Amino acid sequence: MFNKIMKKCPYCFEDLTEKPLKCPHCNQYIIDDLPEVDFHGSNKKPCIFCGKKIRSEAIFCRYCKRWLDEVEKGVNDLKSMED
Ligand SMILES: [Zn+2]
Ligand SMILES: [Zn+2]
Repeated sequence: MFNKIMKKCPYCFEDLTEKPLKCPHCNQYIIDDLPEVDFHGSNKKPCIFCGKKIRSEAIFCRYCKRWLDEVEKGVNDLKSMED
């Protein structure tokens, strides 16, 4: 069984072939390593804000540019900005 490993944007989870400075899909700066995830289809979910279809794993909507987990993410952002 061949498992295809895909690189994904850590925010919108769209496919990436390399690590760009900015995600071409959601326009976020990519400061972390890209997660490599087992590719198991292209499940999508509607964004809770704008209703457009985004990746089911996404934490950032590439359409309305909003964090789907704004409260938790705010805490994480504060931590990562101490750099
Ligand atoms: Zn992205
Ligand atoms: Zn949205």
